[in-house]
Amino acid sequence: MKDSIFPTSIEVSNGDQVLEITWSDKKKSVYPLYGLRVNCPCVMCRGGHSNMAKFEPEAFFDPDASDIHIRNIEQVGNHAIKITWADGHNSGMYRWETLRYLDPDNHK
Ligand SMILES: [Zn+2]
Repeated sequence: MKDSIFPTSIEVSNGDQVLEITWSDKKKSVYPLYGLRVNCPCVMCRGGHSNMAKFEPEAFFDPDASDIHIRNIEQVGNHAIKITWADGHNSGMYRWETLRYLDPDNHK
């Protein structure tokens, strides 16, 4: 992925249970919140450093997904966002390239 691709807008809708990102190359990504929470990239959620690259994109399509809410989103530098979930968990840094990889369109 090119470094020049970055989000031009990031919108959360807890009501619709999605996070929507529009990218600088005009691509629009829509992430069900449950899938984003399950794929939190922090060390704890990924089960240790050796598993850091392993995600579960299928979680985006879980029909039994429970209601998940985002409390806050902060940009970290110019490469990532930090999401604070309603359960208080906020150690995941979602880098642009991780978010592009996790885009549910890539895993249909
Ligand atoms: Zn985590």
